[in-house]
Amino acid sequence: MTPAPSRLWIKNPLAVFTANDLDAGGGLVVAGGRIAELVPTGGRPSEPCDATYDAGGHVLLPGLVNTHHHFYQTLTRAWGPVADAPLFPWLQKLYPVWARLTPEALEAAVEVALAELLLSGCTTAADHHYLFPDGLREAVDIEAAVVQRMGMRATLTRGSMSLGEDDGGLPPRSTVQGAEEILADSERLIRQYHEPGDGAVVQIALAPCSPFSVTSEIMVESAGLAERHGVRLHTHLAETLDEEEFCRERFGLRTVDYLESVGWLGDRTWLGHGIHFDDGEIARLGAAGTAVAHCPTSNMRLASGTARVLELEDAGVPVGLGVDGSASNDASNMILEARQALYLQRLRYGAGVPVERALGWATRGSAAVLGRSDIGQLAPGLQADLAMFTLDELRFSGSHDPLAALLLCAADRADRVMVGGVWRVVDGAIPGLDVPALAARHSAAARRLVDSEKRK
Ligand SMILES: [Zn+2]
Repeated sequence: MTPAPSRLWIKNPLAVFTANDLDAGGGLVVAGGRIAELVPTGGRPSEPCDATYDAGGHVLLPGLVNTHHHFYQTLTRAWGPVADAPLFPWLQKLYPVWARLTPEALEAAVEVALAELLLSGCTTAADHHYLFPDGLREAVDIEAAVVQRMGMRATLTRGSMSLGEDDGGLPPRSTVQGAEEILADSERLIRQYHEPGDGAVVQIALAPCSPFSVTSEIMVESAGLAERHGVRLHTHLAETLDEEEFCRERFGLRTVDYLESVGWLGDRTWLGHGIHFDDGEIARLGAAGTAVAHCPTSNMRLASGTARVLELEDAGVPVGLGVDGSASNDASNMILEARQALYLQRLRYGAGVPVERALGWATRGSAAVLGRSDIGQLAPGLQADLAMFTLDELRFSGSHDPLAALLLCAADRADRVMVGGVWRVVDGAIPGLDVPALAARHSAAARRLVDSEKRK
């Protein structure tokens, strides 16, 4: 890690995307961990700088923001028994494996996921963790420690599952917790970790897993707790038609009606996936300001469907991107996810969907989804969270528009990433991170997890 000088001019980038109408053609000045000023094309900083970084070979973006993930799933990537399964059977096969998660395995999984994200230009990530088996009650505490060590920002959600198989839910009994325990731990985590203001490193949100794995009671109580503490609410919704059918059978309601019935249809809520909405539901979500984390790769891998992103945005729904858990993507790569979003939405709406719109979902849109106005754009006063890409690999050779080349030529790795004014990726690597040692520890943990399932 290299500490930043007191005023650093990141000078004259090859191309820049500010995610707003501001001109930063001459780069920007970083001071005190924030963006002090944008330098217009051909201009110079208004005050002297004590250091300059020549960005003439870099495409400069706001740090990418990931709005939906399950870090622990990096331990069950590309697992044969679910390689070709849709959501419900996929979950039912994986739940017993995940129920064996240990603190050591989770720690390695979080480190792998965050390192992958960081190397892809991501500076802030949301994680949805809902597994708290015996011995792993402090899962979110483990995650918070890794986030702080890696120097990224995260919204860690205290997930929950309370509706077991024997009560008509999907998860096995061994993976669910009682309401009292869930709510008490949610409150503890908010008090212990949630930073409400600008520049927050760790924020906490409450995240009952999905309509088919929690009771209505947990939804209602979580909404009340979130309101009392000013934290956000997250869940999976309208991911598959199986889920729609479950809601109709169990509650006699469509998904958005169910959401409203438990007090969640508001601007405190963001939804993972948000695919199967009708026109009226899209209008209601927009009017309420409920946000959506679009997860294109996962939705294609599990054949869940295609989110109606342009219509959601036009209705006023904040839309961001999520890589989703690594058992359904199986990569944690935010810049590639922006490419997937661009192409999936072009398939739905036509080739006129611009590259900038997809970059906007990955930055400004995702920041709004997480309820943050201090990140996701390049503007004076915002956090100095930056992602910088070079175009010197073979895959870019012959490209003309540097910004379009990022997505169209499939950039997959940032050269430099800054979080709060500190370089966290330098020359395409994370200073201080022993990647082979991490991969060895993580893959051994992954093997143990799956082998114990085989021995059952
Ligand atoms: Zn998910």
